[in-house]
Order: sequence, then structure tokens, then C-alpha cells
Amino acid sequence: ETPILQVKQLHTHFFSKSGVVKAVDGVNFDIKPGETLGIVGESGSGKSITAMSIMRLIPSPPGKIVNGEVLFKGEDLLKKSEKQMRKIRGKEISMIFQDPMTSLNPVLTVEKQMIETILTHENMNKSQARERAVELMDLVGIPESRNRLKNYPHEFSGGMRQRVMIAMALACNPEVLIADEPTTALDVTIQAQILELLNKLQKELGMAIVMITHDLGVVAEVCDRVMVMYAGKPVEFTEANSLFANPKHPYTWGLMNSIPKITSKKEKLEAIEGAPPDLRALPQGCSFAPRCKHAMEQCLTIDPSITKVEESHHVRCLLYEETEKVIST
Ligand code: SF4
Ligand code: MG
Repeated sequence: ETPILQVKQLHTHFFSKSGVVKAVDGVNFDIKPGETLGIVGESGSGKSITAMSIMRLIPSPPGKIVNGEVLFKGEDLLKKSEKQMRKIRGKEISMIFQDPMTSLNPVLTVEKQMIETILTHENMNKSQARERAVELMDLVGIPESRNRLKNYPHEFSGGMRQRVMIAMALACNPEVLIADEPTTALDVTIQAQILELLNKLQKELGMAIVMITHDLGVVAEVCDRVMVMYAGKPVEFTEANSLFANPKHPYTWGLMNSIPKITSKKEKLEAIEGAPPDLRALPQGCSFAPRCKHAMEQCLTIDPSITKVEESHHVRCLLYEETEKVIST
């Protein structure tokens, strides 16, 4: 099956007085219809900037997509005008966020906002749009949908507000949904319900989902494949199953150890020591070396390339460099 979205050699940099922040520095992935790809990493690893680059929402200046291609159905979004992008955003590619208030307007009823979104992209009259809004509220499991449309965003609980945002994102049947930490702010039970909802919607609607998260627990729930990012670069890319069965990158090992156990609720176990590097002054050699328990002498001078360690399992680490190389940096 042909991918719906292909990201090739994406580089997004921010130009500040104190230097160039290479927020995204060589990201490659593709995603097929109906597939869920996880992008995992700590904050500052480049996950959200990758998503914003795809949507062409990088504030410029100071940001700039300096290289790469974002092929949506074979067409490069980086070559589209802002006017063309406005037709694609929300209709063909939608995005949801951690905080629904970033995409919901607090002073308008949900009905007003939904109708407006639907009318922007679809050829309908107002009462058809209202019926579509009711359908969407039902689809995402909001009880008494018709009455609840009259409410303002703050009148919904956190979980219900997240459902409203999802309904809004799905208003025009997008083919790709980019979800940036959509459950991070929710408690564990509600988080599970929202992930279950996304799984169900994907089965019904067949869209591709790019799931951005710092939480491997979320990956385990919903993702088919996963790309782990560190300091703007992918460091491991494979099927979700093999990531859990056989993680290869020392950074992924660290993330695995910091998954909170169900029994100990929020408590973070063994978070990875140290902080992500300053992206304006990356260390020579492997970016992860200063925090890596397995670092060798050559890690301080050689920047590892992406190596194929198994069929569809790629890793950027000198522990595996003797294996066949597929992409050089
Ligand atoms: Fe650790 Fe070296 Fe691998 Fe980097 S290349 S992750 S420092 S072992
Ligand atoms: Mg983020």
C-alpha cells in the first residue's frame, strides 16, 4: 500500500542570536492509511516541531524548514502556498493537542465552532452542518450530544473537552490525524478511554494517526510502528512490537525504565539521568553520549549513522555500526 504521508530528510532550524537551534535535523518516516505511527521522546526532542513542520505552522522567523520534503498523497506540502495549506489543514490533515483550549475558542459555544469548521471546508447549509455536529458528538461518545452542543468549552470535564476537540478535528474526515500528547494532561482512567476512542475511530474511519508522546505506555496502547527521537534526530525506528520485545538504543532502554508501573501510579521510575543537550551546541560525536551508560571512547568523536539491525528495525548507535548501513548522515 502506498503511504499517505512521507517525510523525507526534514530539517527545521530556529535562528536565534545565540545560535542555530537544530530542532529537527534529518527526520524520515512514512505512514500508510489506517496506520498509527508513534513519535516518542522527551520534551525538546523535536517531536512537536516535526508535527508543526508537516502542518507548515512553524513561526518564521525565527523558524525555518531548511531542507526536506513532506509528501502528502505524493505532493510536497513544503511547496504549497499558505492559501493551499489552509485548505489542507483541518480538512485533509488535522491536529489535536494536549490542551483542548489551544484549539477551542472559550467564548463560543461548541455548536458555533463546529458549524464554523464544517462550513469552512464542506459544501453544506447551516442546518446540515448542525446535524453533522450532532453526529460527530455521538461519534466521540458525548452523551446527550444535541443538548451539549449549546455548551461552552469550560462546561465540559477535561476528558469530555478532549472528545469535543477530537470531534472538531474529525469534522471533515481527515486522512491524517496528528495527535500531540493528546492524553498527557488527563488522569489514567480518562487517558485509557481517549486512547480507546482513537483506536475505535481509526478502525471506523481508516485515517492514519501520528501519535506524538513522551510515554511508551501510550505507544503500547495504540501504535503500529514507532520512531524514537533524541535531540532532533530519530535514534530508533521499528514496529512497536519489536521495540518492546527488543529495544536497541540506550536512550530507548532509558525510556523503558521510566515507564510508570500501574501499581505505582504517577511515580517515575529511574528517569534517564541528565538533561537533553543544548541544540545550539551539540556535543561532537553521539548527541546522547553525555547521558549514555554504554558510551565508548569513539562515541565522543563519531556521530553514529542510521543502521539497519534487523528487517524494519533501524538504530543510530555505534554499538551496532558493524551492521549494514542504509542511510549515512
Ligand atoms: Fe551510547 Fe555510543 Fe550508542 Fe551514543 S553511540 S547511544 S553514546 S553507545
Ligand atoms: Mg511537545
